[in-house]
Amino acid sequence: MAKKVLIIDDSITQLSSLKIFFKRAGFDVETAQNGVEGFIKVYKTAPDLIISDVLMPHLGGFQLCRLLKSNPETKQIPIIMLTILDKKLDKFWASQSGANRFIQKDSDFQNIIGIAEDTIKEFPVSSRYKDLLGTFEFDEDGIISQINKILDDALMKSTITNEFRNLTDYTSDDKVIAEKIFKILSTIIEYETACIYFHSPDSTIKKRLIFDVQNCHLKKSAFLDIWRQMLPSCVSDFEIETINENNGEIIIESADEFQSRKEFEFFCKDNLIGKVYFYSTKNIEWNKLKFMPTAKSELDLYLRLKFLYVKTCYLSITDELTKLYTRRHLDSVLNQEFERAKRYGTIISVAMADIDNFKYINDTYGHQAGDYILKEVSKIFTDTLRKTDFVYRYGGEEICILMPETSLPNVVMPLERIRKNIKNKVFLFNGHQIKVTISIGATTYSKDMRVPSDLIEKSDVALYKAKKSGKNKVIIENE
Ligand code: GH3
Ligand code: MG
Ligand code: MG
Repeated sequence: MAKKVLIIDDSITQLSSLKIFFKRAGFDVETAQNGVEGFIKVYKTAPDLIISDVLMPHLGGFQLCRLLKSNPETKQIPIIMLTILDKKLDKFWASQSGANRFIQKDSDFQNIIGIAEDTIKEFPVSSRYKDLLGTFEFDEDGIISQINKILDDALMKSTITNEFRNLTDYTSDDKVIAEKIFKILSTIIEYETACIYFHSPDSTIKKRLIFDVQNCHLKKSAFLDIWRQMLPSCVSDFEIETINENNGEIIIESADEFQSRKEFEFFCKDNLIGKVYFYSTKNIEWNKLKFMPTAKSELDLYLRLKFLYVKTCYLSITDELTKLYTRRHLDSVLNQEFERAKRYGTIISVAMADIDNFKYINDTYGHQAGDYILKEVSKIFTDTLRKTDFVYRYGGEEICILMPETSLPNVVMPLERIRKNIKNKVFLFNGHQIKVTISIGATTYSKDMRVPSDLIEKSDVALYKAKKSGKNKVIIENE
């Protein structure tokens, strides 16, 4: 049976010569002189192929193409754009509009016919589809409202996309980011509560689950329910936080009260980088929500960017062997804390620690044993100190600690605990039982200090005293 081609062109001469050539080539030919007429004819004649001009009055070729390709009933029909335009931007729009082919009007007719035949072969229209087309009726008003609907949707999508892209003006505060994300999501998705979790490459950062509770009042038991559902394997190390709290009228005691929920997991390569959960007391068909796919793909893109950014920052300030902060990072934090102490009278204490006889460990058990000890000793530091203290690898086996808001009397206890924990531990490496001790010197900010390095120098003096007086001790230098 002959294949049917619908040719749409506002130039009558062009239209009639194309018609003649296609008829000669054995096609069944329909024609239309503008986009609107073409659109109606698609439904009336159910063609196997559409060949359309681009520049036409009222409804242009790209718009027509967009319209047909976004309609479930007509999107199967292949479209060839026939135009005098050959600029890159025009080709881009042609492909964006969903056109299957793009050929120039001055191509010879034989060539056009060949491309038409290939296109029909490559994109065959099913007969079920054709039958369906006959059941629709369109008038001009119907087409205009269809076009408006598509334009509205496109505008809405690009608005959502823009909103998400604005999030990349990066802020490092996850709570602020969560607030911004839910501000966008709540305008397109109806939910009572939603929560988000960002995975950080830095394991020292406290894990947080941030809840948007603008539309309901969540009781603690409901938080815990959701928490368990969302992160079943690592429930204990999370902190719950809430944003947009206006204690909505709906009181939720348990997650069971929600009729429906939707979860999204986001990955960067194989790493889980975040999760989002939506909960509603209504029965929501989440997958049918119009802008859900846009929101999901934008969120996916944003979370991957965020993860990579955070990871890059993390790597730039983290020592690879010990996972402690680097000395470069110490310089910037020390400067800030020193300035704060100078200006606002805040307290800052600094300690320098150095493993005793480390050269002997390397020489006796090998360099790898030394590396292992360094890693384990560093871990004792981070495990013993508070999250608000900063631990840096200062040099080879030297560790520096910054303790903001900590006066000297409160410095001794944690440092002594570190010293004892190290002294009491038996490090096992390749069948060797290795004992290690550490010496620590500490000091605190005093008004006579002029530059940040004065803090380091003074704690170095204390460390030197500890070494000189027999090692394995903590010495405080406070004058
Ligand atoms: P003291 O008790 O006086 O501190 O003596 P020490 O032997 O610890 O001090 P010294 O400064 O003489 O030696 C430190 C050694 O630490 C020398 C160096 O090769 C070793 N070192 C530095 N960085 C690393 C590292 O990353 N891995 C290993 N295995 N050894 C390291
Ligand atoms: Mg040493
Ligand atoms: Mg040393």
